[in-house]
Amino acid sequence: MRTRLVMAGLVLLLTPADPARSQAIEPVCPSPHDRTVAITFDDLPYTRAGDAGGQELAAVARATNEAILAGLAVRNVPAIGFVVERRVQALGEIGQTLLEPWNTGQFELGNHSANHPDSNTLDVDAFRREVIDGEATIRPMVEKAGRTLRFFRFPYNHLGDTDQRREAFERGTWRTRLSSRGIHHRYVGFDAAYERALARSDTAMVRRIEDAYIDYSRVEIAYYADLNRKVLGCEPPGILLLHANRINAATIDRILGLFRSTSYRFVSLEEAQAHPAYRQPPRFATKFGPMWGYRWARERDLKVDGSKEEEPPAWVTQYTDPDAPL
Ligand SMILES: [Zn+2]
Repeated sequence: MRTRLVMAGLVLLLTPADPARSQAIEPVCPSPHDRTVAITFDDLPYTRAGDAGGQELAAVARATNEAILAGLAVRNVPAIGFVVERRVQALGEIGQTLLEPWNTGQFELGNHSANHPDSNTLDVDAFRREVIDGEATIRPMVEKAGRTLRFFRFPYNHLGDTDQRREAFERGTWRTRLSSRGIHHRYVGFDAAYERALARSDTAMVRRIEDAYIDYSRVEIAYYADLNRKVLGCEPPGILLLHANRINAATIDRILGLFRSTSYRFVSLEEAQAHPAYRQPPRFATKFGPMWGYRWARERDLKVDGSKEEEPPAWVTQYTDPDAPL
C-alpha cells in the first residue's frame, strides 16, 4: 500500500515548481567524488511491537536487535535508531533494555513520535504532543549518557501537506533540533511477505524473498545515485531507511555489502545531513512522503519520470494477498 502512495506522489511531482523559487537554490556538491551513506532504522525497538503479535514477540524483538547491531558492528558502521514510544511500552521492561545498545558508541537514538501518526491528519498542537511524548523513554536515556537528542524523523516522511503545517513543523521549537531529511531508499513490500513465509516455516520462500530483497535494494541504490546525479550534478550523502524487522536482521550484512562493494563510506546521519544539499528545509507541501531526489527535482523545476523506478517483484506483494493463488 505504501509503495502505491509513494508512486502516486511521484505523479504529482511532475508538476513544475515555481520558477522564481527554483532560481534561488545554490549548487550543493562541493566534493563530488566521495560516496557516503548514513544507515538509519525506523520503528524501534521492534517494528511489530504493539501490533497484533504472538507470545514470542519479546524474544523476536531481542533477536532482531541483536542481529542488526552485530551486523553493523562487524563492519564498523555507525547507525541511528528512531524510536516509537508506543512500541517501547508494548514490550514492557525489555522495551527500554533493547534501546540501550543504541545509546552507546557509534550508535544513536532518535525520536520517531509517540504513536507513529500521520501528520497530515493532525493539527499542529496534536502533532507537537506526539513529538514531546515520543521522547518519554529516550530523552532521559540520552541525557543520562551525556548525549543530546538530535534527530526527529517524521512518520511516513510526511513533512506537512499544507504550507501552514509544513512551516509550523519547520519552525517548531518543540521539535528535536534536526529533522531527519533526505531519505533516499526505503524498500517496502518485502516485510509482510517475509513474515508470512516465516509463519509458514517455508524456508525456501524465506530465502527467495531475502534474495529478491537484496536484488531490489541493489537496483534502488543505483537508481537513486543516478537520479541524484541527474538532479544535483553529483551524489550527496545517501540516507538509507531500514526498519527494525526480521528481514533486515537476516540480511543486514548483505545490505551493507551492497554499499561497500560500490565504494560507499559509511557516515553518521549528522555527517550526512551536514551536506549543503540537506540544509534547506522542504520548500513545498505534499501529502506524500517522496524520496529526496524527487523533492530536489521539483524544487529545481526538473521533470523526472518516476514511473521508471522499479517496483518490488509482483510475486512478493501477491504472496501476502489472501485472495491470490500461491
Ligand atoms: Zn516509521
